[in-house]
Amino acid sequence: MYDAIVVGARCAGSPLAMLLARRGHRVLLVDRATFPADTLSTHYLPQAGAHQPAGWGLLDRLVRTGCPPITEMTLSWEDSVITGGVDPVDGISAAYAPRRTVLDAMLLDAALDAGVEVRLGYPVTDVLVADGRAVGIRGGTRRSGGAAAEDRAAIVIGADGPRSTIAATMNAAFYNVVPAASFIYYSYWSGLDRQHSARFRNGAQIGCWPTNDGLTVVAVMRRRERLAEFRADVPGNFLGVVRAVFPELADELATRGRREERFHGSLYPDNYYRAGHGPGWALVGDAGYHRDPVTAQGMLDAFTQADLLAAAVDRGLSGQQPMNAALADFQRHRDEATAASYRLACTVGELAFPPELAALLVAAANSPETRKKFLGMVAGFVPLAEFFAPAHLTEPKCSPTNPDPEP
Ligand SMILES: Cc1cc2nc3c(=O)[nH]c(=O)nc-3n(C[C@H](O)[C@H](O)[C@H](O)COP(=O)(O)OP(=O)(O)OC[C@H]3O[C@@H](n4cnc5c(N)ncnc54)[C@H](O)[C@@H]3O)c2cc1C
Repeated sequence: MYDAIVVGARCAGSPLAMLLARRGHRVLLVDRATFPADTLSTHYLPQAGAHQPAGWGLLDRLVRTGCPPITEMTLSWEDSVITGGVDPVDGISAAYAPRRTVLDAMLLDAALDAGVEVRLGYPVTDVLVADGRAVGIRGGTRRSGGAAAEDRAAIVIGADGPRSTIAATMNAAFYNVVPAASFIYYSYWSGLDRQHSARFRNGAQIGCWPTNDGLTVVAVMRRRERLAEFRADVPGNFLGVVRAVFPELADELATRGRREERFHGSLYPDNYYRAGHGPGWALVGDAGYHRDPVTAQGMLDAFTQADLLAAAVDRGLSGQQPMNAALADFQRHRDEATAASYRLACTVGELAFPPELAALLVAAANSPETRKKFLGMVAGFVPLAEFFAPAHLTEPKCSPTNPDPEP
């Protein structure tokens, strides 16, 4: 019998398992993947996202992987260009973009170091339920065909991403769903020497930043209506959009750059919240909440939630607070803390900014003080409310199948 079983061992699951084990709890962490394993992600970790592993004592490990610090950001909207760095918070002023093969393996190692029991290549097929309460998992190694073993715990936590088995089995309700507006294609180039750049123009976005092994990730985002046309010739359309939006980068790709990997592409998952807990279970990371990756804060969200949920589960397990009340606090904090950034991601994900937002970007390009706040907000250090008045963000349009803005 474990105190907690965590399903999914990436940005949400491994830190959560580590934090619970560090508080003295007996934790089982399972994932159907074996690590190191890549996953679809452009893996930009803004400064606030680096602050979290620093607090856990893991930033040095990340730096030792050779992942280059990113100290300057350039964001452009049509003709407005905003360039600069951010004031350090607790000595941290750099962002990083570690490959997920590197970051997720490092987080898993930290969980192992904390005493977490880990099973990899271990798909969970079912949640064990008794009297309406989750009491464990059923799963097994691929070799044994799955469904081989049952394990029990006081709480089962789904950190198993957008297609969460735990959420589906426990019927975790969706709310505030906003259909994805765009898609992404990206790959990795050697021979470039760039810090962070994100440029929006004519309904497209180009993002690029350096990562491990001397490579630079370059990504193209477009509205979903263009996906079929784009897929017809991915290399040609990719370079065509880069040339139209970011001609200097297109020249670098053509003259100095060498593409080292195939293109990775995907329609973004919809934006959603899901009920974050129920009797004997909870969700963390993308399993319970996902917003358009355009603002590159999904990993920061996962880290923040891991911290919040670890504290809540610890209060429940140690008897400081009834578990249900502790988990309800977690969900309330999650939703309150992400409400403004959710609206922003849904708005920016449309790749066509409303006039109020465009005006703010022009102001940030022209005023050093506004620029500093803007870059601090992109870094995750300045609360959105400080930069955006709520009126500047359009309300999310809920999906017709999920019309209610609240659960
Ligand atoms: C194209 C794209 C680009 C992105 N770019 C960025 C970016 O630049 N910056 C950023 O911060 N965020 C980005 N994101 C978002 C970010 O990748 C996610 O927010 C983050 O990965 C969520 O982490 P997680 O641990 O919650 O879930 P995941 O990373 O999805 O991990 C879930 C884990 O659960 C395991 N699992 C699932 N089901 C089972 C099961 N039944 N049994 C056992 N194991 C299971 C999976 O194998 C997986 O390892 C991007 C997302 C996409 C799609």
